[in-house]
Amino acid sequence: MHFSHDIRFRKETLQKLLHNILLHQADIVEALHKDFRKPAFETIMSESSIVISDLKHTIKNMESWARPKKVRASLLNFPSRDYIYSEPYGKVLVISPWNYPFQLSFLPLIAAVAAGNSVVLKPSELTPATSALVSKIIRETFDVKHVVAVLGDATIAADLLKKKWDYIFFTGSTAVGKIVAKAAAENLTPITLELGGKNPCIVDHTANLKLAARRIVWGKFMNAGQTCIAPDYLLVHTKIKGKLIALLQAEMEQAYGGNPEASPDFARIINSGHWKRLTALIEPYKILYGGQSVEAERYLSPTLIDEFNVESALMKGEIFGPILPILTYENEDDIRRTLGRYEKPLSLYLFTENKEFEKRILRHYSFGGGCINDTVVHFSNKRLPFGGVGQSGMGMYHGKYGFDTFSHKKSVLKKASWIDITIRYAPYGKKLKWIKRIMEWF
Ligand code: NAD
Repeated sequence: MHFSHDIRFRKETLQKLLHNILLHQADIVEALHKDFRKPAFETIMSESSIVISDLKHTIKNMESWARPKKVRASLLNFPSRDYIYSEPYGKVLVISPWNYPFQLSFLPLIAAVAAGNSVVLKPSELTPATSALVSKIIRETFDVKHVVAVLGDATIAADLLKKKWDYIFFTGSTAVGKIVAKAAAENLTPITLELGGKNPCIVDHTANLKLAARRIVWGKFMNAGQTCIAPDYLLVHTKIKGKLIALLQAEMEQAYGGNPEASPDFARIINSGHWKRLTALIEPYKILYGGQSVEAERYLSPTLIDEFNVESALMKGEIFGPILPILTYENEDDIRRTLGRYEKPLSLYLFTENKEFEKRILRHYSFGGGCINDTVVHFSNKRLPFGGVGQSGMGMYHGKYGFDTFSHKKSVLKKASWIDITIRYAPYGKKLKWIKRIMEWF
């Protein structure tokens, strides 16, 4: 069966997927709670609703995205009509991580199917309940030759990477991203890499600090800080540090109460390996707020850290947990030095009311995407491309950008036959001076 060419077929299967996801909404909440006690609110907001909304948007627009696009012809080719055709790559491999295991499996899958590809999805082994549900929904929706989920760990992913694919879409760590890129290079397979990084969150003295504190606490501690675009560390103007810390503490209390362990709104660390890694990161330090942990529960409370060594492990790699270190700056050189220590991040956040400062930050720093006066929410607009740059990734998706990622853009020039301008043909003879003039003119 050809899955690629019939746009109606693609649309019908995505409608079926939408129907099946809507049927399983309660199961999605249950699976994520089982895997790492993800709060129902966060699951609906950041997993199922995002997928449902993306599906609806794709179903509504995919026919228009798929249509050949006519572009202005060049007079050099007169008379012609020139088009861009969106052609499916063919067989696509999608490898997804554990931290948003539903959404990060389905969003690339939906875009790949809309563009006419067949898909093999390898979800994460660290979220067994959600990955099993993802696989079940796929079985209920798609012909096995069209879309299939292959469950398993890194060895299964490594086996899959040995096969020849027409496109590979990987979401995960930068280290594994490099393994994927090497495997893809073997067959010159095009790839998208959605990776991580150390995302700065800059707060200057002109910012609305109360609002900044609330939006930082929300973006950082959602999913217990296990979000690729969460602020990794704060870089705050020395003048407002004390005030901001007090406001952050108040917001943390407001969100999770005096004992976050008892809060139904605070998730757990994914596994004991990550729990050990995170608790070791904070061990050497005086903790400003939080720092409580329970190994059996894989619990680590929302934590603020001050006065730490910037050379320590805490400030080396991506934290990926509920720990927020606070650094300060006095001037823009300090910001440059701090940001310069790290590779281009996946996100950058800036809280300021100073438009000139905002312009300078946007002009001088490269990052995947970000927000001014908020955190994380740029992810939710499907009209904004989502992706990293440098070590935080390559390529982009969401909405039409996802459709385009999974489509080869085939340029086709349709030439008319009723006239043939002969100047380009040999023998060239005295035509050189004419062709020079014509080329200059164009
Ligand atoms: P990971 O790289 O460990 O694993 C991701 C996937 O790759 C899993 O399915 C895993 O089984 C597979 N894998 C692991 N080792 C492999 C190997 N050697 N060969 C082939 N496949 C292998 O990442 P993770 O721990 O699941 O996720 C956390 C990371 O993902 C963080 O760095 C985070 O920033 C990043 N992330 C990025 C985005 C984004 O959209 N840019 C989103 C979520 C997470």
